[in-house]
Amino acid sequence: MAIFGGIEAGGTKFVCMVGSGPDDIRKETRFPTTTPDETIEKAITFFQQQGEPLAAVGIAAFGPLDPDPNSPDFGKITTTPKPGWAYADIGGRVARALGIPLGFDTDVNGAALGEYRWGAGCGLDTFLYLTIGTGIGGGGLMSGKLMHGLIHPEMGHIRLPHDLVRDPYPGHCPFHGDCLEGLACGPAIESRWGVRGETLAADHPAWELEAEYLALALVNFICTLSPQRIILGGGVMAQEGLIEKVRQKVQGLLNGYIKSPAILEQIDTYIVLPGLGNQAGGLGAIALAEAALS
Ligand code: ZN
Repeated sequence: MAIFGGIEAGGTKFVCMVGSGPDDIRKETRFPTTTPDETIEKAITFFQQQGEPLAAVGIAAFGPLDPDPNSPDFGKITTTPKPGWAYADIGGRVARALGIPLGFDTDVNGAALGEYRWGAGCGLDTFLYLTIGTGIGGGGLMSGKLMHGLIHPEMGHIRLPHDLVRDPYPGHCPFHGDCLEGLACGPAIESRWGVRGETLAADHPAWELEAEYLALALVNFICTLSPQRIILGGGVMAQEGLIEKVRQKVQGLLNGYIKSPAILEQIDTYIVLPGLGNQAGGLGAIALAEAALS
């Protein structure tokens, strides 16, 4: 059986994994994201010290990035505002050092592929994976293929109606202010209410507002992409009761218009948490490595 390396390259931490799937994770390590040199070298050393040969390596990274294998920038993070990381060649350096094929995509496309192989996306060909955490991102499969197109989706940066009387918070996104990420990511919650989200009680008005922004976004995605399921991951979704509020508001906003039992009757299995839990990211990277061989 082929064994793969996977890197979930996040803006705050890297998770490196060796294995072939959820029942076969042989080694795992995590460390903070510092400079590209230091962080990428640490990942390379981890894989070089594994006893067994790896068939391929997958990297599911924060973006924006270049996921096109035919592009000269394939394997690079591109225009990130994260200091030092713009045009960091994470994929090229790792693949050259290990001498094996590379799978490279966004963290959310990676997580979607992992969910497709082993989790909440099994058996579906068109579904979305969104992460609601330090940032907000979305990816997924469309007719059985990871979404790319022009570059890759940037679902966290769609614009939403923003009632400034009800919510005067100007938004957290350095590019757009009050886009979806600017209004609803973890740091936006903290900055709007002055305390970390996880310390806000389940009945705090913060969660009604958060659910509303997420539901507005989901309704836009449902109407444009017609996903068969939406998987919501990321730290903010750990908030008790939040996903139930989002489901209810999505039904309310759609107002019966989309005549599918998935939405009208089975919303609990239509908007779901990741089947792979907090391993969705690392296993997504393993799934990208596996796909790089096919
Ligand atoms: Zn934005």
